[in-house]
Order: sequence, then structure tokens, then C-alpha cells
Amino acid sequence: MKVLKFGGTSVGSATSLINVKNIVESEQQPVIVVVSALGGVTNQLIEMTQLAMRHDSAYEAILAQVRQRHLDIIAQVVPHDRQHQARQVVEQFIDGNLTSHYSILCLNNGLNHTEQRHLADTIVCHGEILSSAIVASMIDDAAPYYSPSFIKTTPDAEGKPILDEALTEQLIRQVLAHCGHRRIVLQGFIAQDAHTGQATTLGRGGSDFTAALVAAALNAEALEIWTDVDGFYDSDPRHNPQARLLQHMTYAEAQRLCDAGAKVIYPPTIAPVAARGIPVWVKNTFNPTAPGTLIKG
Ligand code: ASP
Ligand code: MG
Repeated sequence: MKVLKFGGTSVGSATSLINVKNIVESEQQPVIVVVSALGGVTNQLIEMTQLAMRHDSAYEAILAQVRQRHLDIIAQVVPHDRQHQARQVVEQFIDGNLTSHYSILCLNNGLNHTEQRHLADTIVCHGEILSSAIVASMIDDAAPYYSPSFIKTTPDAEGKPILDEALTEQLIRQVLAHCGHRRIVLQGFIAQDAHTGQATTLGRGGSDFTAALVAAALNAEALEIWTDVDGFYDSDPRHNPQARLLQHMTYAEAQRLCDAGAKVIYPPTIAPVAARGIPVWVKNTFNPTAPGTLIKG
């Protein structure tokens, strides 16, 4: 079994989603697919929250754009017989949940600070809920699972959610190890407080971490991080035309580059897979035959 994670740009357009479908469906072995929100949507969800908290109804126009973008993508990539069901997800989560959450924030009839923060956290999880529903409905034989049912957090001393490692590992095994599906689609990034069930996240860029946790708990054969660059470079290719692609790296080298600010992988991702010796491939959804970067011990 392999875990394949697709980032925001990989699931951000109809063209890239067709690549995602081809990459996943060409796998002969069972796969777990972890997805980010459509590129830019998490930022928009946060921007709308800020507007609504300032009682600025300008969020409504952005929400209409987000809604239309999801509907356009469904029309372009989801097979006809599954489009109705995919559109119902947009109705439930955008026309229903998000519309009501934002209007509650905007009206703000005496919500205290904690209630506002909880609503903001509930809202920001919708990007991955929507993208995973689209990806699950476009890929043949794919079953969607709700990752907050096993990715659990607990508050640290300041109340910031941090991963409950032991519980998460146990639940991933319990829910996914023997589920019998050949292709599973999961939301990256989103989580749940282990005690209250309140929506939480693993932090911006956290979908890579979700994928690593699943790969580690299930002892996957490999973790593939599908992104929009060919792999890790020895320097930033946007600023240095001489930058060389690194075909092999150790976990320690990858960790150093991530900690130094390389945007390729979210830094906490490396430790869980390194601990189990699971190889990590960084591959380009837009150039799938390129060799990519292989990270291992
Ligand atoms: N969608 C989330 C973000 O934009 C998580 C991720 O993409 O990894 O931060
Ligand atoms: Mg990322």
C-alpha cells in the first residue's frame, strides 16, 4: 500500500485533476490519497472569516466565487452519473454550512472569543472537505473517509492544538488497516480535538503531515508527495537558474532543507516516516514522468 498526497495546485484546476486521476488509477496496488483544498481556497476561507468578523459583507462575493469554482470543476471532471451527488456536497457545505457560519460571524450577536475561534476553525476545514469529495467522485472505485475521525489533537498549554500521536496512530490502524477499499480518499490538514470533537487543524501546509501520519501508522511501502515542482533543488530554482535537482536525499538532509524554509514539504512531515524508514518521493503532478526526489535513510 502507498500513500499519495496531492497539494493545492495539483487539485486546483480541471487539467491538474485529470493528471491526479491518471496517476491514482494507474496504481496497481491499494492507495490512500490525501488531498489539500483547491489551491487558494484556504486563504479565501480565512479572508472571508476576517471580513465577516469585521461585519463586512464583502465576504459574500468571495463565497460566490469559491462556490462557482467548485461547481465548474465538478462539471469538467466528475463523470456525468456522479455529478449530481458532487453538486449536493457543494450545496450542503457551501450553501448550507459556510453560508450560515459566515452570517453568524458577521452578525456576531454576542459570540465570545472562544466561540469565534471555534467557528473560524470549523470554517477553514471546509476547503479539504470539498476537494476530497470532488477527488473521490472523479476517481474510479474510490471511497471517501473523514480524516478527523482518526487525526486527533489535544490543546497545548496555550490552547493551540497539537497532535495526539498515540491516539491518532491507534485510530488510523483501527479505521483504515482492514477497511478493504482499494482506493481511499482523505482530507489533509483537518483534525478534531480528541476530547471535545471541535474542528482543529494540523497547521498551514499540514496536509503533508496527515499523509505522513497515515503512511507511518499503516507502514506503507512509500509516501508520495505530488506537488508542482520536480523535487528538491540544491538552491531556490526561482532565483538561481543553475539550481540542480536532488535525486536522492537522506531524511536528515530533507529535514534540514524544510527547516531552512524550502516550501516543498511541511517540516513535521519527515519525522514519522523517517522513524519507520518509509521512502518518500517528491513528484510533480504537472510532469509525472520526471524522476522526482527520493528521500530515505
Ligand atoms: N489547505 C491547507 C493550507 O493551505 C493545508 C495544505 O494545503 O497542506 O495550508
Ligand atoms: Mg504544501
